[in-house]
Amino acid sequence: MRLNRGVLCLLWATVALASPVSRQKQKQKLLLISFDGFRWDYDRDVDTPNLDQMAKDGVKAQFVTPPYLTITSPSHFTLLTGLYVENHGVIHNMWFNTSTSQTLPYYQTQFKNEWWDNGSLPIWITAQRQGLKTGSLHFPGTASTYDGETAQVKEVEPMLYNYKNETLWRQNTEKVMSWFRDKDLDFISMYFGEPDGTGHRYGPESPQVREMVKQVDRAVGYLRQTARSYGLEDRLNMIMTADHGMATVYRNGLVEEITLYKIPGFAFKDLDFHILDYGPSGMLLPKPGMLDKVYAALKGAHPHLHVYKKEELPERLHFSKNERILPIILWADPGYVINGYFPVQFNKGEHGFDNEAMDMKAFFRAVGPAFAQGLEVGPFESVNIYPLMCHILGIQPEKNDGNLELTKHMLRDEGGTGNSTGLNILPNVFTGLAAMAGFMVVVFIVFTTSSILKRRRNRSPSVRDDKKKEDNPQTSF
Ligand SMILES: [Zn+2]
Repeated sequence: MRLNRGVLCLLWATVALASPVSRQKQKQKLLLISFDGFRWDYDRDVDTPNLDQMAKDGVKAQFVTPPYLTITSPSHFTLLTGLYVENHGVIHNMWFNTSTSQTLPYYQTQFKNEWWDNGSLPIWITAQRQGLKTGSLHFPGTASTYDGETAQVKEVEPMLYNYKNETLWRQNTEKVMSWFRDKDLDFISMYFGEPDGTGHRYGPESPQVREMVKQVDRAVGYLRQTARSYGLEDRLNMIMTADHGMATVYRNGLVEEITLYKIPGFAFKDLDFHILDYGPSGMLLPKPGMLDKVYAALKGAHPHLHVYKKEELPERLHFSKNERILPIILWADPGYVINGYFPVQFNKGEHGFDNEAMDMKAFFRAVGPAFAQGLEVGPFESVNIYPLMCHILGIQPEKNDGNLELTKHMLRDEGGTGNSTGLNILPNVFTGLAAMAGFMVVVFIVFTTSSILKRRRNRSPSVRDDKKKEDNPQTSF
């Protein structure tokens, strides 16, 4: 009888000690980092020890396919919403008004609320509405409000900002880690403006880009080192990716340039509004009744110029079903840009091409307690990063174009329920099993000792004290 009571006590103690583990586990945090224009293969011929270590400790995807249009603001808003560009409505880096022909450049467009806040909620707002705390540093879309809300902690870069400055990168890294530690934020999006700038200026195959890739690699090392020194490593997940790649532009008379003004039958007077001289993409709004004329003049005019009426654009590009998209869409093959009256673009590298072009693919790395270790996975579209982030944060996503099934195989607990408790199920199972095994050993020892003592007690009354001594460790268990 005495032994049975002891067994019950031990069982209770085992359960009591094992079960709170799941409740005590801390929520997992997530840092989404974008290195603008980091093409999927930029690490190929550059020494990148920190990126390599990150791949060993976490997950590396072969590449990710950004949405079309492969430019900065549309692609970043896809990361934040999981929506294709036609569905989130941030269709260009530039805000424009076709009635007044007014346009705003990239930076000023960041502050045009109605451009960003047009019906889709970025992950910051969704997470905050579900009780989490979020922040954003320099990430495109940060300056705008959404349904009256912004990320709780945010910083927008000043207009004249040196996106290349490595000292600023380190300061920003420390700032973001302190937001996680001191303000207890759950999710932060962070943006670096390189290697995009260097890729545009010198071309993606230049020694300058290779140097910038080394700087990115040092930044990755510093991000992980700072996370460790701030005591965040065991609960902070990091996803690193980019908005698009970069392609070399053919110049110096190597190719016949695409200049619309020179195309027979095409006339600017037939247009009400246009966006041209913006890399390899363009959009035209013909005057009433002029659409077919403009279309017929441009279609087939240059072997590397693609001309579509909005509704004819291949569905895979997901860039037609939005009223902001103009009636005629132009895009050039990699290596070409679209000029209006005459060439005014002198970048050696460009993006904005078809997202099927390999040079437009972006890199992807992830590391942290949620992610598998040393796993290399195949490519996926960047719309699928959003549901993955919601899953890690344990929040209900908004309606989106992504599919968690296409990214959740990167997680350590592939079949998890989605929230942080789900992610911690496996360690708890092991804890429980270990506790049970320990318990069984103790039961065995108690039972065996008890039997031996019973037999000895029958022979000699003096062993009672010894038995008491042996009992003590069991009661304190
Ligand atoms: Zn970009």
